[in-house]
Amino acid sequence: MYFCNMEKFIVSARKYRPDTFNSVVGQKSISTTLKNAIINNHLAHAYLFCGPRGVGKTTSARIFAKTINCTNLDEKYEACNKCESCEGFNENRSYNIHELDAASNNSVEDIRNLIEQVRVPPQIGTHSVYIIDEVHMLSSQAFNAFLKTLEEPPEHAIFILATTEKHKILPTILSRCQIFDFNRITVEDAVDHLAYVAGCENIEVEREALNIIAQKADGAMRDALSLFDQIVSFSGEKVTYKDAIDNLNVLDYGYYFRIVKALLENDISQSLLIFNEILDHGFDGHHFITGLSSHFRDIIVCKNPETIQLLEVGDAIKEKYNEQAKECSVSFLFKALSISNTCDLSYKASTNKRLQVELALMKISQITVEPVAVAPTVSATPVPPQKQVKNEEKQTVQAEKQEKSASSLPVRPKTTSISLSEIKETEKEKTSTNTTQTQEIPQNSNLSESVTQEQVEAAWIKFAEYLNKMPRLYSAFKAQKPILSENFVLQLSVPNEPLCNKIIEIKTKILKFMRAELKNSKIDLNPVVATASDTDKPKIYTAADKYKFLSSKNKNVEVLKQNFGLDY
Ligand SMILES: [Zn+2]
Repeated sequence: MYFCNMEKFIVSARKYRPDTFNSVVGQKSISTTLKNAIINNHLAHAYLFCGPRGVGKTTSARIFAKTINCTNLDEKYEACNKCESCEGFNENRSYNIHELDAASNNSVEDIRNLIEQVRVPPQIGTHSVYIIDEVHMLSSQAFNAFLKTLEEPPEHAIFILATTEKHKILPTILSRCQIFDFNRITVEDAVDHLAYVAGCENIEVEREALNIIAQKADGAMRDALSLFDQIVSFSGEKVTYKDAIDNLNVLDYGYYFRIVKALLENDISQSLLIFNEILDHGFDGHHFITGLSSHFRDIIVCKNPETIQLLEVGDAIKEKYNEQAKECSVSFLFKALSISNTCDLSYKASTNKRLQVELALMKISQITVEPVAVAPTVSATPVPPQKQVKNEEKQTVQAEKQEKSASSLPVRPKTTSISLSEIKETEKEKTSTNTTQTQEIPQNSNLSESVTQEQVEAAWIKFAEYLNKMPRLYSAFKAQKPILSENFVLQLSVPNEPLCNKIIEIKTKILKFMRAELKNSKIDLNPVVATASDTDKPKIYTAADKYKFLSSKNKNVEVLKQNFGLDY
């Protein structure tokens, strides 16, 4: 039975070749226009059929030729397939049709032979149709020889030129032809046609399987039919989704849904395991990463009701895409797509291809944790440049805020390990105005001790005291307050340039002292001259200062103090 099926199906691309305009798949408007030309007897002498391979150009040309010559058109103006002319066409022995494949016959000689034939009027029927396939392949001399015939064709001659590469056709030819642009067959149309063929052959099929076939065929109906044959010859009278993905070396959608779920959960291990599973199934990394890019693209498409029609999958899987789309932010998708696409482009050149893909997965899995500047496990990694810039921008604001709030607020314990809930909290704080709270202190027990703001301040005072032989410098230093920021950088906002220069001058000394005092070799110092707004603001150090500041912001503070007899 296995063998019998193979015999039966190996030819379905030919067996189910459309023989009427109505049965041409996916080219409705072209079929209608050609039919109308026949009905109204408005035939041109030359047509140019353009479009990708396998979309029905030659088939439409043959149907056109047959229909023009049919002596007994049916009520829908389709060829009858019964008259002498139609039978001649259907049995490939009609003299009314001449086909030249310009890909292999592109010399002047070949064209001259064709031109010779054009002179002879047809014995049966009214028109002779000359189909020149891959017409862009004709040599320029052959083109020129042909041009003359195209300018003054005999009454009975109709030329149909077909090409996959319209841009290679000379303008002199284009201007003499009626041009038809054939579309790629949509997945939906291809699936419908495959379902029709399956029905005719009593094959039971899962629609998802046909979807896989249609996608793999990439818009070419001919390819879709031969892939269908291939699977039927393997799996017999029942074709399942699994048969299709196994046979066509298509990676199951399921893998992509699972891996994206893991990536969204920042689960590096799980994503690497799934990738390993895929490799174990015999798929190569490149296949996977291009598929992953397409998967992200498909989710992006799902994000907008206007573009959802670009998603060419069956309904069951469309639902899954919709679900996953709800879980992905657009910015995650764009970043993920960009990473997977970069991996795709650099894959071939890479010497460690597996690592290349794994690296991409790791990067994608970190997208949604990226807003946290310092993660506990990666404290030794340098901060990316854009973050440093951000920090610098923030720094003056931080200094200001610190003055306003530092001593009034209970100092938040500097955490050394960050839990997921805290990460979210930190993210929230970042967007709010309170930037001082975002300074999470990283810890790397092997290399350096963790440091708190209090320790920094204490060490700084100690250093200032160390300068007490130079009273002016001593008091100037004591008045400053370095603020601990990411990667153990002490941000120091100083009131004037001379002092700033002095600090830079003795920076090595300061660092040596601070590093020893804080037992942390990563401590660095970043002194900047404070902007005018910083220095103009009254400094808030004492409780009285705080009270003054708060009551200036909110008059009710004063009322509160009086009504309750409070003191600071
Ligand atoms: Zn007929």
